[in-house]
Amino acid sequence: MKKLFCLFLSVLLAALCVVPAFAAENTKSFGGYDHVFIIGVDGAGQFFRDADTPNFDRIFADGAVDYTARTETIAVSAQNWGSILTGVSYLRHLMTNSSAAKRERDSSTRYPTIFKYVRDAYPDAQLASVVNWNVINHGIIENDLGVYEWTGSDEEVTDHICAYFNNGNAPKLFFSHFDGVDAVGHELGSRSPAYYEEISKVDGYIGRIYDALEAGGLLENGLFIVVSDHGHLRLGGHLGASARESYTTVAVKGKTVVPGGAFAKDTRNRDVAAIALYALGIERPAHMSAVVPANLFSDVAGEKRALYPDLIDAITARFFLIITKLTALLH
Ligand SMILES: [Zn+2]
Repeated sequence: MKKLFCLFLSVLLAALCVVPAFAAENTKSFGGYDHVFIIGVDGAGQFFRDADTPNFDRIFADGAVDYTARTETIAVSAQNWGSILTGVSYLRHLMTNSSAAKRERDSSTRYPTIFKYVRDAYPDAQLASVVNWNVINHGIIENDLGVYEWTGSDEEVTDHICAYFNNGNAPKLFFSHFDGVDAVGHELGSRSPAYYEEISKVDGYIGRIYDALEAGGLLENGLFIVVSDHGHLRLGGHLGASARESYTTVAVKGKTVVPGGAFAKDTRNRDVAAIALYALGIERPAHMSAVVPANLFSDVAGEKRALYPDLIDAITARFFLIITKLTALLH
């Protein structure tokens, strides 16, 4: 009887030790995630804020959203998807729409994408990129990392992604990209009802992807991010520092994300690179100027963005912020 009591006591003690350790494991953000899912919406700027987006709203009701995350100082797609995926400014990766369309990148490049760092840390992990704009899969993401790549229209991309997850795939890092909003933005501008309707349409796609991830149990230890590369002028088009062009959406949901978290004021859309690496437990390379914003994760105070190594960008971005803030008044 005494032996039995001792056994019971030791099991109880062991359980008491394990439970807090397990709980602590579950609440840390650095390396606390098995998967990061990044959903890129080309040309949507900050306008998730103004469109009818029931899925975005339900997903991020207990997540953190910033509608004023700034673009690169040139509000164009390759410059920004390049930075979102490499964590350095456009002035260093130097990718443009035409240069990225012309050549394939491999991992010998000086400023590789986060796919390279995730591949180095997890040699056997599944990695995937399913996009509308093929340039991302060929000219931005390196072609020698074993990333599963697929390209199609927004609707085809959604169908493909849902089937991919329904088939049991569980990538460590996943990127996707929708292009319909940018197309409507160019044609009709960011004041047109059609522009907001297109954002609502993509919101439906995001909802389907989110639900497929949830059904597959991939969100329990998954970080879910929506990010845009740039916005659009009232009459369409994008390049400069106006609020409509250069404010973007960064929305993050995960078990350690502060619900309703208000990001640091100087968040850039390129910070998505730092957030993704942090969640997967990978130290950020010193050359990156992307940071984990304050008030994003409950256990991370946030970091100050070093002026060096992106000094020229830091100076020009400060200057352009004046234009952004002035034009925001004309919203
Ligand atoms: Zn465009």
